[in-house]
Amino acid sequence: MSTHIHDEAKRRLDAERTHLVQQLTKLGATADGELRNDVDYGDGFADAAAATAERTETIGLADSIHRMLMDVDAALARLEQGTYGVCAKCGKEIPEARLEFRPESIFCVSCKSVA
Ligand SMILES: [Zn+2]
Repeated sequence: MSTHIHDEAKRRLDAERTHLVQQLTKLGATADGELRNDVDYGDGFADAAAATAERTETIGLADSIHRMLMDVDAALARLEQGTYGVCAKCGKEIPEARLEFRPESIFCVSCKSVA
């Protein structure tokens, strides 16, 4: 595997990470995908159906962004460990075309499809 792929993946993963953290911040969530308590949904949101629905939607959104962030972090960790580009499950090399398409991939296509 060429180092070019690694450099490119690192650059894109760093950019993606920054972008995802910004989205979480905008939603009023922490980098863990948890909504911050200091965000003003009001203490009485439980009796306001609309506020509850909005909060539920925000939690769902923050959760999915957090999941993407975890994928990016896992890929960045593998870049640091020198195991990037090798499937985390079966140990086979992940095709470069797949890494170019989805730099956060840590599984090959066949392992990903059964995950
Ligand atoms: Zn695999």
